Amino acid sequence: MENCIFCKIVSGEIPSTKVYEDESVLAFKDLNPQAPIHILVIPKKHYNNVLDVKENDDIMSKIFYAINNIAKQEGFDKDGFRVINNCGENAGQTVMHMHFHIIAGKKLGEGIV
Ligand code: AMP
Ligand code: ZN
Repeated sequence: MENCIFCKIVSGEIPSTKVYEDESVLAFKDLNPQAPIHILVIPKKHYNNVLDVKENDDIMSKIFYAINNIAKQEGFDKDGFRVINNCGENAGQTVMHMHFHIIAGKKLGEGIV
């Protein structure tokens, strides 16, 4: 997808601090971290947001399996973490390439959910 910053991160055109990669998924550090650990997990293929996911598409299991691996790799699996997805305008989605925020590394308290 042209002019998509996360597609450009996948292609290497824009640099990122990579945390995890497999054939379908890339994870990198958020530029503006909201917690000691703030990682973005994205499909390498462009999806605008979760509204583009189809019934028999295996991308969501791949993303959550990647999150499972990242939690263990980065060592926050025992302490716990939060996964957040913003979809569309009311949620404040600013980058129109589907992404999941992993927030960890501190007590997150009772947030919005
Ligand atoms: P959202 O508001 O859910 O669309 O989140 C977009 C996130 O992408 C924000 O947390 C930004 O800090 C992050 N972000 C934007 N550009 C980059 C970039 N080039 N590298 C890493 N994170 C980015
Ligand atoms: Zn994209």
